[in-house]
Amino acid sequence: MANLNLKHIYKVYPNGAKAVNDFNMEIADKEFIVFVGPSGCGKSTTLRMIAGLEDITAGELTIGDTIVNDVEPKDRDIAMVFQNYALYPHMTVYENIAFGLRLRKLDKEEIHKRVTEAADILGITEYLAKKPKEMSGGQRQRVSLGRAIVREPKVMLLDEPLSNLDAKLRTQMRSEIAKLHARLNTTFIYVTHDQVEAMTMGTRIVVMKDGFVQQIDTPKNLYNYPGNKFVAGFIGTPQMNFFEGTLLKKGENVIVNFEYSEAEITVPYSMLYKAKPTYLDGKTKVYIGLRAEDISLAPDDVKNSKAVVKVIVSHKEELGNETLIYGDINMGGDGYVESSTRIIIKDNSGRDLKTGDIVDAALNIDRVHLFDRETEVSVLPRIPEFNYLDCEVKGGKLKFLGAEVELPEAVKCADVKGELLLPTDAITFGGALKADVVSCENINGVNLLALTLNGKRLYAVVDAFNGEKTMNIGIDFKKITIISNGENVVEPMPALNSLDCKFVKHKGTEEVDGKRKKVIRFGFEVADTFFEAEDSAAQKIFAVLGVKKSLLTALKMECGVYDLAVSDSGIKATVESVLDYGAEKFLKCAIGENTVYVKCDEERSGEIHLAPDFDRVGIVETERAIKII
Ligand code: ADP
Repeated sequence: MANLNLKHIYKVYPNGAKAVNDFNMEIADKEFIVFVGPSGCGKSTTLRMIAGLEDITAGELTIGDTIVNDVEPKDRDIAMVFQNYALYPHMTVYENIAFGLRLRKLDKEEIHKRVTEAADILGITEYLAKKPKEMSGGQRQRVSLGRAIVREPKVMLLDEPLSNLDAKLRTQMRSEIAKLHARLNTTFIYVTHDQVEAMTMGTRIVVMKDGFVQQIDTPKNLYNYPGNKFVAGFIGTPQMNFFEGTLLKKGENVIVNFEYSEAEITVPYSMLYKAKPTYLDGKTKVYIGLRAEDISLAPDDVKNSKAVVKVIVSHKEELGNETLIYGDINMGGDGYVESSTRIIIKDNSGRDLKTGDIVDAALNIDRVHLFDRETEVSVLPRIPEFNYLDCEVKGGKLKFLGAEVELPEAVKCADVKGELLLPTDAITFGGALKADVVSCENINGVNLLALTLNGKRLYAVVDAFNGEKTMNIGIDFKKITIISNGENVVEPMPALNSLDCKFVKHKGTEEVDGKRKKVIRFGFEVADTFFEAEDSAAQKIFAVLGVKKSLLTALKMECGVYDLAVSDSGIKATVESVLDYGAEKFLKCAIGENTVYVKCDEERSGEIHLAPDFDRVGIVETERAIKII
């Protein structure tokens, strides 16, 4: 039994192929995690890095309490099941299952106990004396599962274990593996390209594409709240319908216009509170996503719906319990080819539709998904990053949503009318504004509060919430942006400082036991200042870049504004200004070409020295964008 932690895991193959990028995930003990995605997305590579069969290029992998990057596969306490069962043909099933335990020199009685127990769990007791060739594919895969179980691993890794089986057997084995997980009480990590397998087995699913994690969530959340168009299209059959269109806000409604078609529906603006207002200008193109089951041809649904579109039927697929109707919302369109007007509808109305029929279809607007046309990211994120608010600055006061606050010195600006970008995590407790709490939703461990300020919607991400009905809120002004006439009048302070840096070798001498000895020290050089690197940090650099290349590679040191301190020695910096945010003060400093921000409550000017907190500093290789530390 074990939890796993994957922190900034990367894999770059020697030929330069970047198979896995910045994989971050905490896996709790006993979870059933599925990695899913199309071929080549990096799921097997990630699994093989966990198994220790593939080196980790950068990042840290913890199993239980141990960092295992350099731990041999056999010492990781994991067991792996592969697609090809790789059984020894000359051995009996019993011997195959017992083989690994014999190598580990377990005593005979213990081996016998474990083998018979595993055979019992897997229902293969009667085959123990047989040879693999006398067994079916499904039975052989059970044997290979048995071989893994008897090792009593902390983590079971399964790489497409059912791909070689026929459809019926796959379904059966799927539920057997789920049952096995429940019985063994062990952490399972399972790789598949089959979204149905992922959805039916995983407690949480990691959807991957091109080496990047797209979304990590429960099956239900992936289905209901896909974060981007790829996830929306990958999860669920038939694939979600995607139309192209625009959104136009008119009073308290939004008109959704479907491109290349006469179709148009109206939805309440309240559905789109989380959307950036530029999406609602009637010009910005979006993808409109709707699943086949969220469209109905039933006459009653059509009669009661305010979102009806006309569909010309092209053909249908009879599935027995339901019918898939293929059609087009463009009356001249072809429902056979995938296009931005093709529509697939799960129909249970029993209507006998023929090619060329034109029917009304009711769209379930509560289930509409919207995605950006360029980035394909959801326009309605579950946790919005910003509140987009109209605002006015007058006499040093900021007015928004009918409220007024004094701007601190650091963000004082001339009188303007414009837009305020207020991050949802920039709303603080205990300020001068009184807000009403509409709801609090815990989304994967994050508390999202829906508030109203003078009756207008405001979202806030907070660490803790105790069920208050009203709250006094304030603003973390260092995170806000004020835009007027397309220009940023007020800009947020960057959350991370980024400084050019090099990894260097210093040769020198040192007094040891009264004698001078030669020593070599490795460290980071930032603006001509040397900081000796801890052994563990140097090892990480060597592991990713190699010893020679590490001294030639351009690096960036990243640290938060609280992770640099004014000090007697360290990096030389020139204070450019003092930023007074009221509750906190910061120094804006120049270091060569770089600008950094440092928390400092004292007034400072001229030359100062800065010392980074190396326990909290990140080191990034710029060229390949790899976070090494
Ligand atoms: P998946 O399991 O999702 O199908 P993989 O993890 O096997 O994908 O591969 C991810 C990417 O890494 C692919 O682009 C693949 O071509 C590449 N890759 C895998 N193994 C190697 C290797 N040994 N050398 C170079 N590239 C590799």
